[in-house]
Amino acid sequence: EKGRWDTIWLAGLRDDEPDTLFNKILAGEIPASIVKEDGKILAFKDINPAAPAHVLVIPKDRDGLTRLSKSTPEHYEILGRLMVAAGEIAKDESLGFGDGARIVINDGAKAGQEVFHLHVHVLGGRDFNWPPG
Ligand code: C5P
Repeated sequence: EKGRWDTIWLAGLRDDEPDTLFNKILAGEIPASIVKEDGKILAFKDINPAAPAHVLVIPKDRDGLTRLSKSTPEHYEILGRLMVAAGEIAKDESLGFGDGARIVINDGAKAGQEVFHLHVHVLGGRDFNWPPG
């Protein structure tokens, strides 16, 4: 049963994950191509785009949101802000978005999440398949 207890213990630790490099972007220590910003959210072009248009939207304060499945009712407001920003970006032709976008949150390593600071991917400028890979 050791594996099971290790899993539970690690799950409990996840909120204490170290700061990610998104904090360095927020602090201006790593350059980023910022497309939208307000007091609560930052949106910037993905450095390794998976589509002709690829923007990430993040909360400025991670506030326990290492991943979407860590969210609670305390996060209703910031989650709404992230979604509205993503929707605005998804129709911004000046960023290469057209009629239709794929808006994705990878939750956990198994789903491809690499940076444990919640981020909404907004992808566009091409067609997308369903189901996703
Ligand atoms: O969902 P996931 O955690 O895999 O997404 C992380 C994203 O952050 C990747 O698409 C990666 O290209 C992007 N990234 C970035 N700038 C960095 C490091 C990673 O845009 N300096």
